[in-house]
Amino acid sequence: MHYPEPIAKLIDSFMKLPGIGPKTAVRLAFFVLKMKEEDVLDFGKALVNAKRNLTHCSVCFNITDRDPCSICDDHYRDRSVICVVQDPKDVIAMEKMKEYHGLYHVLHGAISPMDGVGPEDIKVAELLKRLQDEEVKEIILATNPNIEGEATAMYISRLVKPSGIRITRIAHGLPVGGDLEYADEVTLSKALEGRREL
Ligand SMILES: [Zn+2]
Repeated sequence: MHYPEPIAKLIDSFMKLPGIGPKTAVRLAFFVLKMKEEDVLDFGKALVNAKRNLTHCSVCFNITDRDPCSICDDHYRDRSVICVVQDPKDVIAMEKMKEYHGLYHVLHGAISPMDGVGPEDIKVAELLKRLQDEEVKEIILATNPNIEGEATAMYISRLVKPSGIRITRIAHGLPVGGDLEYADEVTLSKALEGRREL
């Protein structure tokens, strides 16, 4: 089936999103055609603004609209603890729990030789630099409970150990193979509470 060019382009754009197959893309594209023009304009603006106005915090590498981010810049937070996570979405999951008041470090991935992702492809060197510059007493390794997450936690632990900084790993109340971001608040809170020394 041949769609008019503007529709075909819209369908292609939707298909670039994760979890959207051709059928859903077609349905969404036709839905957009039925939307009020003003809503479509708002939607387009929201997409562009999110992309243009968000950047990575130069300290923790979380996504932010100002640098340093509101967490790094908050002097009421406990600056002696850094929770190391894989993804900005994990920070949101941790913050929703409201029990953690330390800082974060976002790695933007996990070590995965199968996918060709090495330590230099994620923000490990940046973490080590922070540990040198800042007064950190503990790092909590909250990478995902799967092979890549474990390998990343082990790798960081080996590098940090000689510094004498306390290293803990979030407990395995989390579903194995699951992502931190999908854990509910109670599970996450227990996982944090039950963290063990590495
Ligand atoms: Zn930050």
